[in-house]
Amino acid sequence: MRDTTKHKGLRNQLASVLEAKGISSDTVLGAIKKIPRHLFMDSGFEAHAYQDKPFPIAADQTISQPYTVAFQTEVLEVKPGDKILEIGTGSGYQTAVLLELGATVFTIERQHELFKKTSLFLPKIGYKPKRFVFGDGYKGLPKEAPFDKIIVTAGAPELPKALLGQLKVGGKLLVPIGDGAQVMTLFIRKSPVEFEKHELGDFRFVPMLREKN
Ligand code: SAH
Repeated sequence: MRDTTKHKGLRNQLASVLEAKGISSDTVLGAIKKIPRHLFMDSGFEAHAYQDKPFPIAADQTISQPYTVAFQTEVLEVKPGDKILEIGTGSGYQTAVLLELGATVFTIERQHELFKKTSLFLPKIGYKPKRFVFGDGYKGLPKEAPFDKIIVTAGAPELPKALLGQLKVGGKLLVPIGDGAQVMTLFIRKSPVEFEKHELGDFRFVPMLREKN
């Protein structure tokens, strides 16, 4: 598959749709305009790649809705040089958005099929996370901690507590919490022992799964 001016036009339209829905960050909208989302999906869905909708990818998972990706990225106020842990690599689209904004990204995926597929694909189109990790996001990545930001892109039935301890002071954890539907929840580490919590509305994600035994 190639990237064409037609795709580019569709991306500009998608960015306008997201802007109308409340996304205001120029850098986030710029990333949406730049990244060829159709390449992250099976060719059968290519015609729909620039609709503001989630779509199936491999292993019964989904590529998140563009609005959700833009919303999570905007809330995290991603800056060049931020050290970010992403949980739920999936198609790698959110990973590409974080990299486009200049972050250093560590990304974890628990399904081997997706881990393999995306770790081969992303570098091919020029997006290189610091590390692709095959593992369980509930545990975070203690060896590489602390992080400026942690983003969870699957619905966590409950708060994965280990993640709070892997934030820098001043760092942010953004995680959708709940069964079925989730409340987007932001934690800001105010001190080694204090966290501020903000609830940012309802979203719907595929469930975050426990490691297979
Ligand atoms: N950001 C991705 C979202 C994919 S859906 C995208 O837009 O493509 C969520 C992903 O989280 C799936 O790939 C799923 O396999 C993965 N996942 C679920 N539970 C996980 C866990 N415990 N640790 C790491 N990844 C997990």
